[in-house]
Amino acid sequence: MDTMDDTIEFEALTAPILEERPWAVFAACKAEKSMKFFPQTRQEEREAIAICNICPVIEDCLDHALESNERFGVWGGTTERERRKISRIV
Ligand code: SF4
Repeated sequence: MDTMDDTIEFEALTAPILEERPWAVFAACKAEKSMKFFPQTRQEEREAIAICNICPVIEDCLDHALESNERFGVWGGTTERERRKISRIV
C-alpha cells in the first residue's frame, strides 16, 4: 500500500485539483512520485523533463505554471529558470 507522503495518486487528483486543472487527468506524471518534479540534481531534472516530453498535456501544464507563477519544480517540461526567462519575454 502506498503511503501518502510524496506520491501523486490518482485519487488525489479529484476536486479541487481537477476542477482547477481538468487536463491533469491525462498527465504523464500522475503515477509518478511528486518529488520527482522537484529535482535536486541536473540528472533528476532531466528525468522529470523526459516524462514531460511525452506528456499529452505539456502545453496546458506550462500555461498553468506561467499563469499561476509556479516558482518551484518542473512544470510543462520547463525548469524554474526557464520559466523565469519565458516570463520576462512574454
Ligand atoms: S508536462 Fe510534466 S509536470 Fe506537467 S502534467 Fe505533464 S508530466 Fe506532469
